[in-house]
Amino acid sequence: SPALRVTEWSDVADWWPRLGPESEKYTRGVVGVATGSATYPGAAVLSVGGALAGPTGLVRYAGGARAEVVHRYPSVIATGRVADAGRVQAWVCGSGLGTDEHAAAELRAVLAAPVPVVLDADALTLLVDGSLADRLRERDAPIVVTPHDREFTRLCGEAPDGDRVGAALRLAAWMNAVVLLKGDRTVVAMPGGRAYVNPTGTPALATGGTGDVLAGLLGSLLAAGLPAERAATAAAYLHGLAGREAARGGPVTAPDVASALRPVVAPLLG
Ligand code: AMP
Ligand code: MG
Repeated sequence: SPALRVTEWSDVADWWPRLGPESEKYTRGVVGVATGSATYPGAAVLSVGGALAGPTGLVRYAGGARAEVVHRYPSVIATGRVADAGRVQAWVCGSGLGTDEHAAAELRAVLAAPVPVVLDADALTLLVDGSLADRLRERDAPIVVTPHDREFTRLCGEAPDGDRVGAALRLAAWMNAVVLLKGDRTVVAMPGGRAYVNPTGTPALATGGTGDVLAGLLGSLLAAGLPAERAATAAAYLHGLAGREAARGGPVTAPDVASALRPVVAPLLG
């Protein structure tokens, strides 16, 4: 059906924002990343790594892994709390955040910002446990949720077996959010009934932390001004290509995927 498409490189190339002589770091977009914690600093480094491969001009980090993030990526501006981060055009929230009261408060701060958000991992757990999923329907700015199958099952109450496109579309309609259902052929489903299937996946991505890289890249695309549908579809496509690129060098780890995004996006920069 015309409402279901397989993503192509030319789609991503059409959507990727081009740099011009007038480009300036703030006008390229600023992405906020509220991930990681003292317990899980790696999730912060991975999501920031994904964000830095995207088209934005500035990454702000807010969370409990400031030292690790700035050590690895000195160009990032880091604070401890979302409320202290300053203005951003999109937020990424969830991976490695934890699910305690502090994490819940940070998630609420992210949701209160009038900008697009990516919700992943612990943010999805907090949505279910805090019965916030219903309330998201009233949010004006776009939401993208990025569940893998187990997260999807918790959000939805049923597994996405069989008809994955149908399952993702139902959750998208119920939440009034873009749903990026991760897997072998990642599905991006819109509340209005359209969906994309991603053809670039590779089992090399089935290793810890690769989803954190995807969430960061997606946040950067949102902050650069792409509509949520295009940002999610392009992020899944480029992330798959980065997994394949990284696999050329041997067994893949999540930092390899973040690094491999650079040669993958390079042809888009001209
Ligand atoms: P996460 O579980 O949050 O770290 O996300 C895992 C990432 O790896 C997602 O982007 C998935 O789409 C991808 N992935 C996992 N397993 C496979 C697979 N067998 N084939 C293709 N992509 C996969
Ligand atoms: Mg994950």
